Amino acid sequence: MAILPKTDKYGLYEIRFESIGGLGANLAGKMLAEAGLKYLGLNVSSFSSYGSEKKGSPVKSFIRFAEPNTPIKVNSPVETPNILVVFHENLIKSMPVTLGCTEDTVIIVNSRKSPEELQDILKIPKGKIASIDATGIALEAKVKINGIILGAIAKAAGFITLEHINGIFEEIIGAKYPDLLKANINAIKKGYDELNLKEVALKKDYAFKPFVKADPALGYTNQIPGGIVPNPGNTVNKDLSAGRSGMIPVFHKDKCINCALCDVVCSDLCIVFKEENGQMFMKGVDYQFCKGCLKCVVICPKQALTEGVETEHDVKAMTVKLFSESDMAQNHK
Ligand code: SF4
Ligand code: SF4
Repeated sequence: MAILPKTDKYGLYEIRFESIGGLGANLAGKMLAEAGLKYLGLNVSSFSSYGSEKKGSPVKSFIRFAEPNTPIKVNSPVETPNILVVFHENLIKSMPVTLGCTEDTVIIVNSRKSPEELQDILKIPKGKIASIDATGIALEAKVKINGIILGAIAKAAGFITLEHINGIFEEIIGAKYPDLLKANINAIKKGYDELNLKEVALKKDYAFKPFVKADPALGYTNQIPGGIVPNPGNTVNKDLSAGRSGMIPVFHKDKCINCALCDVVCSDLCIVFKEENGQMFMKGVDYQFCKGCLKCVVICPKQALTEGVETEHDVKAMTVKLFSESDMAQNHK
């Protein structure tokens, strides 16, 4: 009897993770594939694609399952996933995460929003959308989000069970970090129990977009002699919000002595100082450029910057812009 609920013309059940470095997507993909191999006897493959292997840079992981008598002969990235997992909601605004999705794709997003709200953010016409507040669960349990996401996948996929995910965690995480195992097992169960999966109603304003492989804007045919870096880390257009893992610095103006230590340690230059009557005053943080490292919180001698859970704050309203609208427009030219 077939184990997999649905397969493509090559006999494959495919999963794609859209994530950023530091959230554990690569390891989660490997553990998921290993669970399929070890507990279900499936043929599996798992690999990831990432750039400079640093926290905050985009990561994609691809997992394929096939029945025991079906070899996996496709080794390219997953284009039309059965399950798509978005590890950080902010990725949706900066990356085309839903390319290749169809009405048969189950889309799981790490978010507090409802599936209906996510449908409008993802611009998906119909299908199954699920949300799980993996960041909130992870912060409470003091674990990474990847186990919680695997618990959610077990519920959405059906053929992989909670016991399979627990088993692979016991084997891999239990051997390396035994102290973290219990908290992870509890968090995996929360991921399974709290997944909010819904079939959303048709919205004709939206359409599925086919998968296209993005060609780099500059290559050997049009590269400027000597080379340039077209998108360096701190341009005014850069949005680092997807690099945060759930925490932000929160500014308390009444405690600030304007010592500027926070500005010295912030490598992304997102602390905003403005001059008033010949003196510089700390005004706040431009969260567009803030990757949530919290170095500014650690250095502040007066607790004028404290750490806060991002989802409990209105980051947009708290943002103090570093650049004016005209500066931003100038940089786009
Ligand atoms: S380090 Fe703290 S006290 Fe000093 S300027 Fe920054 S927020 Fe204010
Ligand atoms: S957390 Fe603080 S130091 Fe880190 S990027 Fe944000 S503002 Fe800068």
